[in-house]
Amino acid sequence: MEKISKIIKTKIFRYGFAVSGIFVSAFMFENFQTRINSTTVALAFLLWILISATFLGRNPALLASLAAMLCFNFFFLPPVRTWTISDPQNLVAWGAFTVTAIIAGELSAYARRRALEAEKQKIEIERLYNELQDAFEKASRAEALKQSEKLKSSLLDAVTHDLRTPLTSIKASVTTLLDSEGGHRTIELDTESRLEFLEIIDEETDRLNNFIEGMVELARVEAGSMRLRQTFSSIEEIISTALKRAENLLKNHRIRVELEKDLPLVSVDAKALAEVVYTLLDNASKYSPENSQITVKAVVTGEQVQISVNDEGGGISPEIREKVFEKFFRDEVNPVGGLGLGLAIAHGIIESHGGKIWIDTGENEKGAKIIFTVPIEKEL
Ligand code: ADP
Repeated sequence: MEKISKIIKTKIFRYGFAVSGIFVSAFMFENFQTRINSTTVALAFLLWILISATFLGRNPALLASLAAMLCFNFFFLPPVRTWTISDPQNLVAWGAFTVTAIIAGELSAYARRRALEAEKQKIEIERLYNELQDAFEKASRAEALKQSEKLKSSLLDAVTHDLRTPLTSIKASVTTLLDSEGGHRTIELDTESRLEFLEIIDEETDRLNNFIEGMVELARVEAGSMRLRQTFSSIEEIISTALKRAENLLKNHRIRVELEKDLPLVSVDAKALAEVVYTLLDNASKYSPENSQITVKAVVTGEQVQISVNDEGGGISPEIREKVFEKFFRDEVNPVGGLGLGLAIAHGIIESHGGKIWIDTGENEKGAKIIFTVPIEKEL
C-alpha cells in the first residue's frame, strides 16, 4: 500500500511538474505579450517539453505538450483568448510540440533502458566473475587436498620405512644388551659384540636424527620460512666446506675439483649452499662405484655461477630427472637409498636463491651430472 501511494505520489508530481512549467511560462509570457512574439513562446514551450521528456518521461511530456498547445492557441495565437486559429501555419507549432515530446521522451527512455541494461550486464558479469572465482577456489582447494593426501601417504611410507627400520634395530640391540646384563642374563656377549651393538645404536640414532632434521628443513624450505643469511661468499670456500664434511663418505672415490680462475663472490647463504653441495657429493658417492671419479666444477656463465657434481655411476634416466626433486622420491633401481629428501631440500634452497638446479648425463656419457646456478649479484 505504502509503495503504491509512493508511486502515485511520484507520478502526480511528475505530471504536475511538467504541466505547471507550461502554465508558469504561459503566465509570465502573457504579461509581457507586447514585447515577446509567439515564436519565442513556442521555442520556450518546446524547450520545456524537451526538458520534461528527458527528466520526467514521455507521458508527462505529452501532457505538457497538450497544455502547451492549448495555452499557445488560447493566449498567443491570433485571435488571442479564443480557441480558433486564423493562420493554419500555426498548426505546425502544435505538431512540433507533440512530436518533440514523443521523440525526446522515447530517446530518454531508450537512454535509460540502455543504462539499465548496462547496469544489469555489469551485475551479470560481476556474478559470473564471482562464480568463476568460487569455482577456482574450490578447484584449488580440491587440488591442495589431493596434494596433502598424496603427501600424507608418502609421509606414511617414509615414516614406516625411515623411522621403523632404525627403531627396530635400536630396539633389538638394546634388548640384546639388556639380556646380557645382570644376574638373570640369557645371553653372553664378549666386549667386541657389545661394542658392535652399541655402534648399531649409535648409527641408527644418527639416521633417525638425520631424518627428523631433513623433515624439519624441508618443511622450512617449503613454507618459505627459511631465512637466508646472505653474505658475499666465495664459491671456493663453500665447496671446500662441503668436501671437508663429506670427507668420510668420499674416502673410496677419486675427487677432482675444477674451479675457474677468479670466481666472483656471490651473495648467498654459504651454509645452505654448502649443504646443497654436500647432498650432491653424498648422492654421487652413494650411487657410483668405489674408486670411480667424482668431479666438482664451478664456472661463470653470464650473470651466474654454475656449479656441478659429476659422477661415474648409473646416472639418472631422463624420465625421472624432474621427479627426483620431489620429496620422498627414490629410484627403485638403486639398491642403496636415503630418505628421498636430499634433492628436494637442495631444490628449495637453490630456488630461494633465485637459481636453478637440474640434471644432465655425466661427462663422456657416464653417470649423472647435477648442475645448479646462483646469480652473481642478487638484490637482498
Ligand atoms: P636419497 O636420500 O634417496 O638419495 P635424494 O633426494 O637425494 O634422496 O635423491 C632422490 C633419488 O634420486 C635417489 O633415491 C636416487 O635414486 C636418485 N639420485 C640422486 N642422485 C643420484 C646420482 N648421482 N646418481 C644416480 N641416481 C641419483
